Amino acid sequence: MNESDTSRHFLRQWIEKDVADGRTGGKVVTRFPPEPNGYIHIGHAKAVCVDFGMAELFGGECHLRMDDTNPTKESDEYAENIKRDIRWLGFQWSGEGDAGEPGFYNASNMFERMYEIAEELIRRGQAYCCNLTQEQWKEHRGVPEKPGVPSPSRDTPPERNLNIFREMRDGKYADGEWCLRAKIDMASPNIHFRDPVIYRIRHVSHYHLGDRWCVYPMYDFAHPIEDALEGVTHSMCTLEFEVHRPLYDWVVDRMDEQGLLPVRGGVKIRTQQREFARLNLTYTVMSKRLLLQMVNEKVVDGWDDPRMPTVCGMRRRGYTPGAIREFCERIGVSKVESESDPALLEWCVREELNRTATRRMAVLDPVKVVIDNFTGTREVELPNNPMDEAAGTRRLPFGREIWIDRADFMEVPEKKFFRMAPGQEVRLRGACIFRCTGCAKDDSGAVVEIHGVWDENSWGGNAADGRKVKGTIHWVDCATGAPAEFRLYDRLFLEKDPLKDGSENFLKHLNPDSLKTVRGCVEPALAAAAAGDRFQFERTGYFVCDGKLVFNRTCSLKDSYKPA
Ligand code: ATP
Ligand code: MG
Repeated sequence: MNESDTSRHFLRQWIEKDVADGRTGGKVVTRFPPEPNGYIHIGHAKAVCVDFGMAELFGGECHLRMDDTNPTKESDEYAENIKRDIRWLGFQWSGEGDAGEPGFYNASNMFERMYEIAEELIRRGQAYCCNLTQEQWKEHRGVPEKPGVPSPSRDTPPERNLNIFREMRDGKYADGEWCLRAKIDMASPNIHFRDPVIYRIRHVSHYHLGDRWCVYPMYDFAHPIEDALEGVTHSMCTLEFEVHRPLYDWVVDRMDEQGLLPVRGGVKIRTQQREFARLNLTYTVMSKRLLLQMVNEKVVDGWDDPRMPTVCGMRRRGYTPGAIREFCERIGVSKVESESDPALLEWCVREELNRTATRRMAVLDPVKVVIDNFTGTREVELPNNPMDEAAGTRRLPFGREIWIDRADFMEVPEKKFFRMAPGQEVRLRGACIFRCTGCAKDDSGAVVEIHGVWDENSWGGNAADGRKVKGTIHWVDCATGAPAEFRLYDRLFLEKDPLKDGSENFLKHLNPDSLKTVRGCVEPALAAAAAGDRFQFERTGYFVCDGKLVFNRTCSLKDSYKPA
């Protein structure tokens, strides 16, 4: 993180003050708590940058915690992919860990302790079992303007509550028959404070713990316990949790009463929560539920489809970790909800790739050019990256027949068309000056072959007599070039907000042309490209190799977009 003013956001100032006031026991500890029920997306990447970034900045540690308290949709496959994506973004969790791996935690490993804390709340008269139905519970809870109505079970004595809670745990009741509620304040203007449910019955297997539990803690109860037990000092989350913060503090206070807060460097570590605005991107959706729906309905090729806003999708699209981090830095951390333009992300990608991507030549829509007065073969030498001399040069063969892109030829050139046209001279990148003499067409009138001659005194690309040639085009030698597949991506949705007609209807805003696959030709060196290698195809765009001789377009070379 740099020292610019924008990076001194409120979270950073908040942590700075706690460090100065000695509240961290000498170590800032943050956490990133994904639920392993899907792959992480660019929104999560922002949280990753904030959570890991702040820990890094203060020389502390960031835990990676699988928030696996909701047993239905979680899996190890998701957990493993989350780990891989975070590492790819350039971050590493550290700290003690709860299962052998440093810095790595599973919330479910704390179920035993959570249960004990809940029993202790019951003993202290701070929680009670309630058997209102969901509808009754909602009705009793009421609206912020008017005090709620207490549950008839609110004053059940602790011994009886303890019995019911143990029966709940032992599987005596069906889902929803009973729940455990914190006894707080039924008149609070914050309805999350009106005796919230902290445990519910769910007869479902957990992906790690099987059928060991049929009662599961609610997020609002579990999260502060996880943070507190891990010794987290600064727990950052998205804005929607702001109204839950009093409850977070309530749970931490109760843990304090129970003597459960850890001590570090002689200081009792009292975790605190702060909230920042989520990252919203236009022209896409980010809820894991909807992303999963697209995967299941095969609207996309999987979570890592290059059109997906997932981190693995962006990786396959050729985006770089550095560009994603730069994007997160640029949009900044604030308390105001806003939407970000995917063009800014692309701009960051382009900025980096322009500096780092290897230059190659590829022809996406080939048409053959025959150089009638050329014999034999020659070699052209071109820089691998004009922005980086250390990248060196490569040599590539040039022969009598080459491919050029169809769009670089016009039989009847428009005004200011300086590329290939009958009677006109053009430079073949790195090779020579070529004058087109005509073309052959098929019955439908499509150009099938272009003919012309080269200027034998122009090897390297410049005329011996110094005359100017305006256009330079790229090419691939027919004899040695390799056939390749190109996948050209566009945005997945046509609508800025695909959810504008509700989440049931978002698929009707899909862009039918979000993927176009074409076949063409690449210079010979690209036959050795490995998946993940990134290139700038000269004059064509940035591409990433996605398997042997398959290239995904990352983005175009230019865009009118300029960051503010
Ligand atoms: P989704 O709604 O996409 O399913 P989630 O919030 O349920 O996401 P979690 O796995 O619970 O997903 O999120 C892990 C962390 O990432 C949380 O701290 C959450 O606040 C944060 N996060 C999720 N989405 C965003 C976003 N769009 N911008 C910033 N942070 C986010
Ligand atoms: Mg969540």
